[in-house]
Amino acid sequence: MSAPLACALEALLGAGEPAPPPPLDAAAQQALLDRFHPDHRTDHKRPLRVGANAGLLVDGELADCLEGRPRLPDGFVPGRPEATCDVLVLGGGGAGVCAALAARDAGADTLLASKLRIGDSNTIMAEGGMQAAIGDGDDPGRHFADALAGGHFANDRPLLRALVEAAPATAQWLGELGVRWDRDAAGRPRLRRGAATSRPRLLACADYTGLEIMRVLAAELEAAAIPTLAYHPVVELLTDGEGRVTGAVLIDLHD
Ligand SMILES: Cc1cc2nc3c(=O)[nH]c(=O)nc-3n(C[C@H](O)[C@H](O)[C@H](O)COP(=O)(O)OP(=O)(O)OC[C@H]3O[C@@H](n4cnc5c(N)ncnc54)[C@H](O)[C@@H]3O)c2cc1C
Repeated sequence: MSAPLACALEALLGAGEPAPPPPLDAAAQQALLDRFHPDHRTDHKRPLRVGANAGLLVDGELADCLEGRPRLPDGFVPGRPEATCDVLVLGGGGAGVCAALAARDAGADTLLASKLRIGDSNTIMAEGGMQAAIGDGDDPGRHFADALAGGHFANDRPLLRALVEAAPATAQWLGELGVRWDRDAAGRPRLRRGAATSRPRLLACADYTGLEIMRVLAAELEAAAIPTLAYHPVVELLTDGEGRVTGAVLIDLHD
């Protein structure tokens, strides 16, 4: 660098590190948060008018969404559905497709509707792997304890229990359907360590685990000939007035 340029840069940047900002006491910190932090500013908040959280001060845009008018078309008559079924599954990710397959296996007349294409989901983005306590020295109880600690003991315990107890059979089921788990030299599913796990219990398919699971589930759904409605997001749930959901209003994104 030429000497004049170096001098000019030094003059611009100043010599050495800038002085750190002075420490703030609690009151000054609060004032700064109140002025700039979206969770603390009150100028764009308002209380919710309806629903279980009525009165809660929330972001205005969120309140507008929650209080939005239903998108039902003129002349809509909930008593005359366009389709009926025993089980309506909403969402075409891993959970929804598994639910549809289970409902079909139980003999239910099943319909699956999803916002976009079947498989457009978070499921296809999961890379790391799926945990199942199938390794030597491992069991669902240990999986439960690890996940509970990893979840800072805030987990929904019955849900967590269902998850860890079902995981080994689910992993086996997915393998039988055709999910190509990574394998060790002996041909057994290769288990890796995941965060906060005391045993290796992460089953993976290279770095596209969810995509591979969804590939197989979507093929299974198609083979089962379960009726599907792609590009049909649900916009309203219908109830029987006593809290039981009896149907849904879907929007056809094509028209
Ligand atoms: C980047 C990333 C990495 C991850 N990595 C891992 C991992 O390594 N291991 C792991 O265990 N988990 C991982 N997860 C979490 C895991 O992917 C999700 O917990 C799991 O896929 C959720 O499955 P799901 O079927 O419940 O939801 P989704 O897969 O999100 O499926 C929801 C479906 O519902 C549809 N839908 C949404 N709104 C509507 C509507 N109004 N009407 C109709 N349909 C609707 C969506 O289009 C979608 O098809 C990861 C998630 C992400 C995003």
